[in-house]
Amino acid sequence: MLVDTEKFTVDGREVESTYVGKARKCCCGCAGKHSTPEEDPEQARRVLGMLAGASAEQMDRDNDIAACEIGKLQFIAYFKTAPQHGEAHS
Ligand SMILES: [Zn+2]
Repeated sequence: MLVDTEKFTVDGREVESTYVGKARKCCCGCAGKHSTPEEDPEQARRVLGMLAGASAEQMDRDNDIAACEIGKLQFIAYFKTAPQHGEAHS
């Protein structure tokens, strides 16, 4: 996976927001934090760095997100076309 921590892209896809939270918990924000690269560039760089270093087993990917679970934490990058975060509640 190719990430650019200056432009906040993943394989050329622009990152709209990122998430860091507890692994295997709800991802609506109650167990972690959502932010945009503008709001929190530090978090965005951290998430992209984790994605860049994740192994295939740790990685979860679809059209609109790239995610990885490392240790007890879940890292997610939402791409610009992604659905709103509320829909990730499960
Ligand atoms: Zn929740």
